[in-house]
Amino acid sequence: MFMKRKVTLILAMMLLVLTASAKKGPKYVFYFIGDGMGTNQVMGIQYYLQDIEGKYGYKPLCFTQFPYTGLVVTYSANSDVTDSSAAGTALASGQKTDNNVLGLLPDRETPVVTIAEMAHKKGIRVAIGTSCSIDHATPGSFYGHTRNRNMYHQIGNQLSDSGFEFFGGAEFRQPAARNDDDQDNYVKAEKAGYTVVRGYDEYKQKAASTDKIILFDKDSKSDHALAYSIDQKEGDLKLAQVTEAAIDFMMKEPKKGFFMMMEGGRIDNACHANDPGAYIREMLDFDEAIKIAYDFYLKHKKETLIVITADHETGGLGLTAGDYKTNLKVLQYQKMSKDAFTAHLEKMGREIGDILTWEEVEKELKENFGFWDKIELTDKQTASLKSAYVETFGMGPGALEEGKYFEVSKMSDEAARVMTECAQISWAAGCHSGSYVPVFAIGAGAEQFTGQIDNKDIPMKIKKLAGY
Ligand SMILES: [Zn+2]
Repeated sequence: MFMKRKVTLILAMMLLVLTASAKKGPKYVFYFIGDGMGTNQVMGIQYYLQDIEGKYGYKPLCFTQFPYTGLVVTYSANSDVTDSSAAGTALASGQKTDNNVLGLLPDRETPVVTIAEMAHKKGIRVAIGTSCSIDHATPGSFYGHTRNRNMYHQIGNQLSDSGFEFFGGAEFRQPAARNDDDQDNYVKAEKAGYTVVRGYDEYKQKAASTDKIILFDKDSKSDHALAYSIDQKEGDLKLAQVTEAAIDFMMKEPKKGFFMMMEGGRIDNACHANDPGAYIREMLDFDEAIKIAYDFYLKHKKETLIVITADHETGGLGLTAGDYKTNLKVLQYQKMSKDAFTAHLEKMGREIGDILTWEEVEKELKENFGFWDKIELTDKQTASLKSAYVETFGMGPGALEEGKYFEVSKMSDEAARVMTECAQISWAAGCHSGSYVPVFAIGAGAEQFTGQIDNKDIPMKIKKLAGY
């Protein structure tokens, strides 16, 4: 009798342990989205890293070594080529919507429920971060619900309504109140209990004394995003720091677990601009942020899931320019993004107070793109740069007053085009494409992320695994 009871007890206990462990999904979830990061964006950086060491083949990134990978289909409800809000909505909620719609069904009325919202409702801590403005399409998709992704002000106010514990990114794009019934994004955030901090140092000073925090860049940039990695200066906020801060803030209450979305938002910007050097550095920046999450994973292996994917491909990046080789190593000589080069030439012109001479521009091209010095150019390439100079600066005295001087971006466009040619790669477009994007995963439940996956199924897998 006694034995029988003991056996029953042991069996019951074993069953309890088994069901408990079977139910246990990831407690800490990282969801990284590389905006515009198609399969060629990933392959290109890996060729580049090997090429600068003078070898053929590829050097893996941190996340490309994750054990589970798949191919993701990205179409939206009304196009094979999605935009970031439709893709963001699918990746956040498992619902397809039309391009330019954010967090609503195609009827433009019915809000979707995102996995960040589901997690938060269950008492799990939530962090949303990006290298763009915090109200931009991808981060916005996790808490915002608007007819159009460009309704930045409304999205900014919806951020405070979410109650998520952490936000990190460049800033609000359109904070100012629209009318007497409306609220400024910052005022609303403060009323909702958020502390807004500027820069990583201020985060460290104030994080301990607040329950909800918004981490923004120290100063506002003209394009409302964190500086391109290639242009970053000492003190500029980096995606890796946003990730570090987010983990730190989430782990104030480790028992609750967390869901974190981090966007490498400027891969997309660089690829829209067909700017090869900026794209390469953005990929490294994204990988650097992921390494922070990977370090966390190493300490909490059984309880952590990291999923890396993209919303769509941008630029139709081709790893060929019509020959059986690439020459990606030349991209190491590009020292500035196209945008920064334009601003740099404009500033020089203002300081000199005159139209720049070809010799002056040539010197800048040498220093910032390595042309002629580090990279041999063909006569045709030199001629095309000179003719871009003539178009931009060569209209003689008076051009400054006529405002023509500010078409300096033509010079930068041509520099980036020649750079692309030298790297022996190509761009099919200045917009998104319908290409596959990759998914990589490691940790608890990572084996779910293989095969051909529709983007809308990724959040549903996370939801199921984490029990949201
Ligand atoms: Zn885009």
